[in-house]
Amino acid sequence: MEQTIELIKARDPEQYEFHQAVQEVVETVKPVLDRNPEYRQQAVLERITEPERVLMFRVPWMTDSGQVMVNRGFRVEMNSAIGPYKGGLRFHPSVNIGIIKFLAFEQVFKNSLTTLAMGGGKGGSDFDPKGKSDNEVMRFCQSFMSELFRHIGPNTDVPAGDIGVGAREIGYLFGIYKKLRNEFTGVITGKSLNWGGSLIRPEATGYGVVYFAAEMLQTRSETFAEKTCLVSGSGNVAQFTTEKIIELGGKVVTLSDSSGYIYDEQGIDSEKLAYVMDLKNIRRGRMSEYVEKYPGAVYTPVDPSLDYNPLWDHQAECAMPSATQNEINGTDAANLLKNGVYLVSEGANMPSTPEALDQFLDNKILYGPAKAANAGGVAVSGLEMAQNSMRLAWPREEVDGRLKHIMKSIHETCLDAGASYGVEGNYMAGANIAGFVKVVNAMLDQGLV
Ligand code: NDP
Repeated sequence: MEQTIELIKARDPEQYEFHQAVQEVVETVKPVLDRNPEYRQQAVLERITEPERVLMFRVPWMTDSGQVMVNRGFRVEMNSAIGPYKGGLRFHPSVNIGIIKFLAFEQVFKNSLTTLAMGGGKGGSDFDPKGKSDNEVMRFCQSFMSELFRHIGPNTDVPAGDIGVGAREIGYLFGIYKKLRNEFTGVITGKSLNWGGSLIRPEATGYGVVYFAAEMLQTRSETFAEKTCLVSGSGNVAQFTTEKIIELGGKVVTLSDSSGYIYDEQGIDSEKLAYVMDLKNIRRGRMSEYVEKYPGAVYTPVDPSLDYNPLWDHQAECAMPSATQNEINGTDAANLLKNGVYLVSEGANMPSTPEALDQFLDNKILYGPAKAANAGGVAVSGLEMAQNSMRLAWPREEVDGRLKHIMKSIHETCLDAGASYGVEGNYMAGANIAGFVKVVNAMLDQGLV
């Protein structure tokens, strides 16, 4: 196993996030390999860590002032053993092949946990939609899709949103795909309701994070009532995580963006959340504006000289990181524990560094890893695909009911898989083991392809 990791590092030395994601999975599935010697002979680790296909392409586009710009587009089609590739597109200046590969790798296990027939993939670009006009974003999306369209399809590869890709971008991407292919199919999820989207899809990741957390709390006969929660980010996942926590009687006291965070000791109630949704989704403003509207709150800008994030240094019981990878480091984890946090449910993908994970596991807190806790988004994307195939739309209650059921079953699966390999109560190991076994067995059933 160590050899496999060394080989991966030697082959692509600069793909740090991918190494980190692989290392975590490989370490936790060791008992599975020990119990199934044929897996080693079949080189399942080497096969599952190598993408089936990697696409990288030029994305030229023009600014409003006529300047030509060139970005780089990616799609990593990681594994199709249990269904068509499925996973979001991320538009953010930090995007590179290592980040997309780590996200695609995580997606394989997450999609497997949902119980739906979806393989894993991920894509995106180093394009930054922040500060661009709608027309610039549209031209970029059209250029991006004018290459990607030939590689995707409703039974091949079904992208969705992620950081920087929301309702606006999905609309532009779908529009040009439809024109180029001359067909209206469920090739992208996260579509608007009046042209093929599913009810509850915008809410699904955040609601799912809270449903998963509620299941974890229930193992200690607790609920969200009166719990104080730290949430990072202020985008899709953070907004609907906050909405569901409020509904269940909890209190969210923080939100952030890449410039800084707000701490509102009184709690972010429904009215304040509606303000944040308008600020971020419609006016595309910054969280710093929150304290102008609600002067009782405190805004702290990002201080690059700090080696920790002060957002995680407040009294609370629960934390839901919902911004980006590696946003909780070892110091942040120590601060969370010191401040009384005993539940972490990950909305963002791989938000905790290995040093943070060690502390969560050593202290036996309720730790819900991203590939289980945030799987609600892709699960409802799977339900959107099902509705598109049948050309019908399920009511809100039905989709929400199915989401709840899926999150409950992921929670059970993690516990059962952990218990059957001697790591009771370790949701991280349970998620990795359950996801791994299902995908690997499907790969072996299908022969050496
Ligand atoms: P959005 O683009 O809607 O929001 C992202 C938020 O995180 C923004 O507030 C953004 O701030 C902040 N952020 C992004 N990058 C950084 C950074 N490098 N440092 C600090 N803050 C940052 O994205 P989502 O809410 O959709 O995604 C958030 C996380 O959840 C990601 O890790 C994503 O992979 C994960 N996720 C999303 C799913 C979905 O359905 N959308 C499904 C499963 C996981 P700013 O506005 O300044 O950019």
